[in-house]
Amino acid sequence: MATRIVIIGGGPAGNSCATTAARLGADVVLIERDVIGGAAHLRDCIPSKAMIASGNARSFLRRSVRMGLREVSSELDLAKLGERLRAIERRLETQTRTLLASQRVELVHGTATIIDEHTVRSESGAGTIDHEADIIVLATGSRPRIPEWAAIDHDRVMTTRDAYPPASLPSHAIVIGSGVTGVEFVHLFESMGSDVTLVVSRQQVLPGKDPEVAAALEEDFLRRGVRLFKGARATGVERDGDEVIVHCDDGRVARGSHVLLAIGSIPNSEDLGLENAGVETDRGYVPVDRDLQSNVPHIYAAGDLSGRLPLSSVATMQGRKIAEHAMGALNPERHRYIDYDKAASAIFTEPEIADVGLAEADAFSEGRKVRVTKVPFASAAKALINDDSRGFVKIVSDPATGVVLGGSIVGRHAAELISVLALAVTNGLTVSDIHESLLVHPTLAEALSEAAE
Ligand SMILES: Cc1cc2nc3c(=O)[nH]c(=O)nc-3n(C[C@H](O)[C@H](O)[C@H](O)COP(=O)(O)OP(=O)(O)OC[C@H]3O[C@@H](n4cnc5c(N)ncnc54)[C@H](O)[C@@H]3O)c2cc1C
Repeated sequence: MATRIVIIGGGPAGNSCATTAARLGADVVLIERDVIGGAAHLRDCIPSKAMIASGNARSFLRRSVRMGLREVSSELDLAKLGERLRAIERRLETQTRTLLASQRVELVHGTATIIDEHTVRSESGAGTIDHEADIIVLATGSRPRIPEWAAIDHDRVMTTRDAYPPASLPSHAIVIGSGVTGVEFVHLFESMGSDVTLVVSRQQVLPGKDPEVAAALEEDFLRRGVRLFKGARATGVERDGDEVIVHCDDGRVARGSHVLLAIGSIPNSEDLGLENAGVETDRGYVPVDRDLQSNVPHIYAAGDLSGRLPLSSVATMQGRKIAEHAMGALNPERHRYIDYDKAASAIFTEPEIADVGLAEADAFSEGRKVRVTKVPFASAAKALINDDSRGFVKIVSDPATGVVLGGSIVGRHAAELISVLALAVTNGLTVSDIHESLLVHPTLAEALSEAAE
């Protein structure tokens, strides 16, 4: 009899596990209570990038007079933007449903709960079904964290999920939280025409990122008129008619038209019935080993719920690895465990920011000898052609072997360009492997080749 796998959650983690396991011969049931494609994925990751693309188009149009065009209208139409976002969501959901159906994955709409070690119950308006499982995969994702000091009204006091797009464009948006999501929203609102204040609890935006990279972004924000409240922790949010007021622990007060909270997420695990199967949790996350097994070996966890890197790309890879492990399909010669330290990531601000592997600052704080080469995009012909010479490429390599250990890119298309360095870092390529590759001219990628010289 085929292995029966029940997956809870139809985001990137659940879907990739489902399609891979089905291809490997499993009977797969996937239970999703909301949107096939994933709530965090389709209701945060994708619409935020789609809105940023619209904001970027507006900025580009406003700059285009410098490129020999007459000024064109760049007025924002929030209703049209909303339609665009819904259309993208529908399209991606349909694509995912079609893919799952083509692999004969059984899709069940409903909320799932674990009843015992081998039974998952799904409940919906249509009724209750108990699903027997040899393997259970938990891929329930996460949702925005809401602190007790902020009463979300989904209108002027918002989480990210209220903002695709907001009901009205903020005349002055106050963004609380200066991690990846916070700075993306600063960029997004500013590019759409809002005044923006960013409340930064530390002294650096993007804490944890390479300080030089964070400084480049900060400089750009200041140039665009963004107000930074540095070293200020928000402690209260109140509404006064159409105004919102944010109180900070150092006594400062920010006033605006809207507040957006971007202070992290919490795992969707509280009503899953994990205790019925003895699955342990840590602050709501399900700890997993390198094969993504929980403390109960036939119950795996993936995606945001696993408490590892909360990225769609990581969730997808974890889902696939679980399917291969559970189906005994690991090829011992080719198998690699996920190395989270080598995951490429990007921040879709303007300029874009992307990095992978070892950061220069981390190498120095660890006392590790590295070679760092940095090339500004201003030296690439393509930057002049694009009328945008902001940013740089930085490569961190081993001085003895030339092996690429990491890198950061700030500038246009950084999120695409980082793939070259990600390939190098994951596969142990050297700077001369990059430098000896014949690249297209004129491209921004030539700055990578120069930095690898
Ligand atoms: C603003 C924002 C921007 C982001 N941008 C990026 C980005 O640019 N790049 C990137 O790689 N990542 C990005 N991410 C992160 C990314 O969205 C998540 O890491 C990814 O979606 C996690 O996938 P998942 O499968 O774990 O969870 P999800 O995508 O949330 O899917 C989990 C699914 O489980 C379902 N579920 C939960 N409980 C139950 C239950 N009991 N029964 C049935 N179904 C259930 C939920 O409805 C949900 O659909 C962003 C996140 C945010 C918040």
